[in-house]
Amino acid sequence: MASLTWRYHTLIQALLSRGPLKEEEFHEVFIGVSGKNPVKHQNVFNEALLRINNALAYVQFELRACRNQYDGKVYYGVVNNVADEQSKLGTKYSAPQIAFYKGVIDAIINDVGLEGAISNIDALNVRLENQIVLSQAPQDSTAKLPTAFKLFNMSQKEKTLQELIKDRWLCQTSSDKIGLGIRSFFDLRGWFRTNEVPSCDVCDEAGVKASICPKEGCSVRIHDYCLKKKFSKRTGARACSGCGAEWPLPEYESEEIDENNTTSPDESQIASANPVLRDLRNAKTEKFDSSQDASQRKKRRICKPEPAETVEASQRGRSRARKV
Ligand SMILES: [Zn+2]
Ligand SMILES: [Zn+2]
Repeated sequence: MASLTWRYHTLIQALLSRGPLKEEEFHEVFIGVSGKNPVKHQNVFNEALLRINNALAYVQFELRACRNQYDGKVYYGVVNNVADEQSKLGTKYSAPQIAFYKGVIDAIINDVGLEGAISNIDALNVRLENQIVLSQAPQDSTAKLPTAFKLFNMSQKEKTLQELIKDRWLCQTSSDKIGLGIRSFFDLRGWFRTNEVPSCDVCDEAGVKASICPKEGCSVRIHDYCLKKKFSKRTGARACSGCGAEWPLPEYESEEIDENNTTSPDESQIASANPVLRDLRNAKTEKFDSSQDASQRKKRRICKPEPAETVEASQRGRSRARKV
């Protein structure tokens, strides 16, 4: 693997050890190691992310941005694109705890109100046996449940819920319900796709907490923050792209919408969900780490892997950019 200097290591390490970081926090770390503010030096920031992702692709890890769907805030994190939930949670959580987590996630995803959250009671009532794939005909599924699952009682569920919230796999929403934690938003991206969780019409990410088109029978859904962005452009009617019906005024309509807000990343920056794809051909020559000499760069380029399939869905339909 091409060597990355300590500056890159520090960025990766910060994300690995402290979990997904809020955009501002990650920017602070970046300023600390590079002396440059990512908001003012976007090209330096993007190039650093690109280099990191080229290196992480060897081990199928990826540094990306992701929004917390409850408040629309951007986070940065490193995700393993291969491991399943079992291996991610497995070292700390027991099999019944993981089955419980999966059951809660299922219930949240299937929340018809698209609130992306369920009540505490509903979470505690999640049945573990639904999460077990039984090898034989499950006529009497409870009889075949492993003992650990049968013994998993209410107080253990309550305790697990608290732990999952503390570890940010789940969260307590502002309406005091149980929702997805930021780590789940990062890690379940592939799972959302395989389970066909409908995507937001604007950003194409799973619409877990979203608004649905008011017209009966139309299933177009849009994240609240995407709705805000889409309709902040005062260029026409609030027509649904699916059926043409008019969307009701969002609740935050009266809020001041700052269209020149440069601190909030635009979609292409969020697609650093896939920074690899950013077209850096026009980037200025400013460097994140000037200690890289030319020969090292050249060598790297030769052995650079196709970032390819490690970065899946978000790149569909986008042109593949390569560093020049
Ligand atoms: Zn969206
Ligand atoms: Zn519609």
